[in-house]
Parts: sequence; structure tokens; C-alpha cells
Amino acid sequence: MPTSSKPPSGPHRGGRPSPPQSSSQRGGRPHSRPEKPAPDRTTPDLGPDGVPQVSLLRRGVERWQAGHPWIYRADLNGDPGLEGGEVVRVTDGRGWFIGKAFYSRQSKISLRWLSYDDVAVDADFFRQKLQSALDLRQRALPGETTYRLIHGEADGIPGLVVDRYGDYLSVQFLVPATEQRKVLIADLLEELLKPRGIVNRSDVGVRNLEGLTPEKGLLRGQLPGPISFDEGLVRVRADLLEGQKTGAFLDQRENHVMAAQYAHGEALDCFSYVGGFALQLASRAKSVTAVEISELASGQLRENAAANKLTNVNVVVANAFDFLRDAVDEGRKFDTIVLDPPSFAKNKDAIAAAVRGYKEINLRAMQLLRPGGILITASCTYHMDEQSFEDMLASAAADARRRLQIIERRGAGKDHPVLLNLRETRYLKCFVLRVL
Ligand code: SAH
Repeated sequence: MPTSSKPPSGPHRGGRPSPPQSSSQRGGRPHSRPEKPAPDRTTPDLGPDGVPQVSLLRRGVERWQAGHPWIYRADLNGDPGLEGGEVVRVTDGRGWFIGKAFYSRQSKISLRWLSYDDVAVDADFFRQKLQSALDLRQRALPGETTYRLIHGEADGIPGLVVDRYGDYLSVQFLVPATEQRKVLIADLLEELLKPRGIVNRSDVGVRNLEGLTPEKGLLRGQLPGPISFDEGLVRVRADLLEGQKTGAFLDQRENHVMAAQYAHGEALDCFSYVGGFALQLASRAKSVTAVEISELASGQLRENAAANKLTNVNVVVANAFDFLRDAVDEGRKFDTIVLDPPSFAKNKDAIAAAVRGYKEINLRAMQLLRPGGILITASCTYHMDEQSFEDMLASAAADARRRLQIIERRGAGKDHPVLLNLRETRYLKCFVLRVL
């Protein structure tokens, strides 16, 4: 049971007396002097229950109170002297308890929100989060067994991703706190879902920011090889160990199925991977050209098309930028085009170049479409919000001298919830446009 309440009625305090308040704090006047952080600690400050405490500077407290689930290093009140990976009590400058968080020592993001209350973060805590995440998927996607079960902070467990592919799970441990709780998390997943196998796909670059090295392998049970799952009327095979991400791009599942609805005539799918969009287009369109740069993914796409008896898919192993440019030069035309590129900007500095890249492919796709043609265009770049994406599309349409209608503004599926106070979780944009 949560035991805390909010100041001033009965806050949980740290294990030391709260410092006297300065007159400026009491008076509530604007603070003119910059706050001086406490000296770095060599031994951690422990709370009444022995749980380490991390105190925040005023700016950190304000961020926390504004609902931000991440606190940056610069907003900590000195180095707390911890190893990283701990569950900590978060306190304000006076030592009042304001919540619990995962602590990371190496990352720029030091604290990740777990609770506003002074609850025990133990097996039961994680069990309850997993159960609640499963309940949501069962309600939102009845009958489905392939979905993202845990989407990090958006499901209350920061630094953990769990994708379910029927009887198999593919998991990413992205911060020291979840890395150190691998055994517990695997135990709880086995208890909840009784999977035949759990794959660890923590082979991602973001782990380096946390001082963790990329890792992959079978964590529990077995994996007989690539596994198959249904998307609408199409069956897709994905390799959970060697495929990209956790094996497939589950965030686009609902958009894949939607794409079939609009597909007609001659279709083009750029950045196809193993065919999430291409197979759906093929079920309705006359023909599909699928452009993918990876030989491995292209091969799997061919196998997926054959397994679904779709004989109208032509897989081209090429750079989609070159393909689109050549197609415009050759005067080719299409009726349905999908653009689903990888993220073009890994950080904020790369945004301008990313926008140019998006504009180039979208402009060419607009030039390639016949009147009445459909463009399904996506961006998974975290650092580009929906408005910037729409602005880029508007600018591409103007330069291409095409008029387009917006038919749908979509995002990731319901199994990738967006956390209200963390815009970064609204990373996937997917527009359906139609050429007038
Ligand atoms: N559309 C897919 C997911 C695409 S992920 C789906 O819905 O399942 C992006 C894909 O683009 C990856 O498979 C990657 O190999 C491929 N890719 C990356 N750069 C590319 C390029 N320049 N040209 C073509 N394919 C590219």
C-alpha cells in the first residue's frame, strides 16, 4: 500500500533532519542566486528503510512536480555516490520524500520515475506492472498474442521492453536497473505467460550511454528458429534472434493492416524490411515493388511473399533514395506508395539533415503518384514531432507542385502507449495522404 502523502501534511523525510529554510524560500520570492549543489558524496545517504536517497536541486524538483518522468544529472544535488541500477528515494532540497526512481550513474538521465508514493519496489511491484500491461493489451487488442507487452516508462517500467510473439518473448534491458533485475523479470514473465522461450535483444547502441555493453542471446527456454505471426490476412515470419529490433516492427502492425484498405493499382513500398507493408499492399494491389537495402531482409521478404502465395511482389535490393530518384527520372508512376524509413536523426543536432532526407523521399513519392494515388508516409524519429513532420510534408508537396489531402494522422499501435508527460514516447508518425 502507498504510505506517503504530500508535503506539508505528512511527508516522508530523509534519514537526516531537514535543513532550515532560508528566508527567500519561505517568502516565495523569485530566487536570484543560483543554487549551489551539495558536495559529492563518497557514501550514499540512506533513507529510514535503508533505501538510498537522491536529492534534487530546485530545478529538478520543479521538473518532477511538473510530471517529467526523467531527471537529468545537472538537476541532482551533487553526486549521490551510488553505483547505478539502484531503486532510490527521491527527495527535494529539504529532504522531503517526493517519489521513487531508478538511478543511472553514467547516463545523462539520472533518474527515471517509478512512483510518487513510498512503496516497496520489489517482485510484487513489477508483477503488478506486468499484469496491468497484459490487461491493457487483452482489452485493446482482443484475441491478439503478438504485441509489445511492456513499452518502457509508458508501462511504468523504465528501461524495459518486452515484445510478445505468441509463445515467445523478445526482451530489451536498456538501463542498469533493469539489467540487474534480469533474472527477476524473466521469472515474472515465465510466471505470467509461460513462454516457450525468452530472447534477450539488448544488442542496442543506447545501452552504451548507460555504461552497458550490447548483448543478445537466448535467456530462457528455446527458440526453434524464425517464428510466424498473423497480421490481418497475412502471415509474417520474423527472426527474433537475428532480425532488426526485437525481430519485427510491431509498432506498425495496425498501420500495416490499414494500408491494405487503401492499396490499389501499382504499389511501391520503400524501406520494406521483411514486408510488413509490402505483403498487405500485395493482397489488394495489382503489383508491388518492394525496395530494401538489406540482403538478409530482402530474402526473408521473398520467403514471406511466397509463403502467402503472393506472386505480385517484386523485391528490389537497393538504396531507396536512388530508386526514387531514378524512378522520377524515368517517368514511372504508381498508385500507392509507402515510405517507412529508419530513424534519420539519432540526436537533436541531426534534425536539419533528417528533415532534408524526409523531404527528398516524400517529394519524389508525391511526384511518382498518379491522381487519386495514396501516400502512406511514416517517421520514427523521436526528435521530430508531428507538426514538424506535417510541415515537411507541406513543403514537399509545394515543391512537387502537388495538392494532397490528409486522410489519416496515425501513430504507433495501442500496444505502444504514449506517456502523457513524455513526448518522446509519441515517436511514430504515420500519415495517409491522397493526391487530388
Ligand atoms: N517497413 C518495415 C520497417 C522498416 S524499418 C515494416 O513496417 O516492417 C527500415 C528498413 O529500411 C530496414 O529494413 C532497413 O534495412 C532499411 N533501409 C535502411 N536504409 C535504407 C535505404 N537507404 N534504402 C532502402 N532500405 C533501407
